[in-house]
Parts: sequence; structure tokens; C-alpha cells
Amino acid sequence: MMEERLLGKSTSWRRKKSKEWHKKYYQEHKEQKSVQAKRRYQKRGAEIREKSKKFRLEKKDKAVELFGRKCAFCGNSSRYFVFHEKTGKRHNSGGGILALKMPENFVLLCYVCHKGVHWCMSALNLSWEQIWAIGKKK
Ligand SMILES: [Zn+2]
Repeated sequence: MMEERLLGKSTSWRRKKSKEWHKKYYQEHKEQKSVQAKRRYQKRGAEIREKSKKFRLEKKDKAVELFGRKCAFCGNSSRYFVFHEKTGKRHNSGGGILALKMPENFVLLCYVCHKGVHWCMSALNLSWEQIWAIGKKK
């Protein structure tokens, strides 16, 4: 009976001490811990970015393949490709994914022609159909 009580007391005392110790430890290592967490987070973030980049590139490659792997205007097949959305509004890195989903809304251009198309759109206020009629490969 006596022993039990002693034991109980000592356990709770130890628990309390341990709690305090953890608190102290946390306070002392807070900085360090957050730096570690930050580093882990950054590393994880880099991994995720790397993976999604790979995913996008794979999708883009598939889409480029689907579009015949050459520029619709000049026929160049070795330049950097851009998926141009015919309505011309949306241009993001997911272009390849969207182009796979809705190929009828996109055209594959090399970056030179793509720049030209956008120049025509903004400077000459031409629509995609007009630009295409003028510039398409004969
Ligand atoms: Zn081109």
C-alpha cells in the first residue's frame, strides 16, 4: 500500500519533470527545430516541383508527338515548341496537358513563330484565323 503510493507519486513527479524538460528543450531548440523543418519543407517542395516538372514535360512530349513534332508555320522541328491556344488567351506551362485534352483548340508552333503570332495578335489585332491564312505553310 505504502509502496504503491510512493510509486504513484514518483511517477507523476517524473512525468511533470519530463514535461518541463520537454518544454525547456523545445524553447531552447525552437530556432533550430524550425530551421530543420524549413529545410525539410524546402527539400520536399523541391522534390514535388521536380516531379511535377517531369510530369509536365512528359505530357508536353506526348502532345508534341500528337501534333507531328514540327512547327505548323515554318515546319521547324528542332526549336523549342510552344502550344498556342487559338483563342490566344491562355498560355501557361500546362499547355501540353490542355493540348492533349483539347487538341482542336491548339496548334504547335516553334517559339519564333509563336512570338510572331502574338505580335500579329497584339500589334495588328489579327485573329488566329487571319494569321493562319497568311502564314500557314504552303
Ligand atoms: Zn515556326
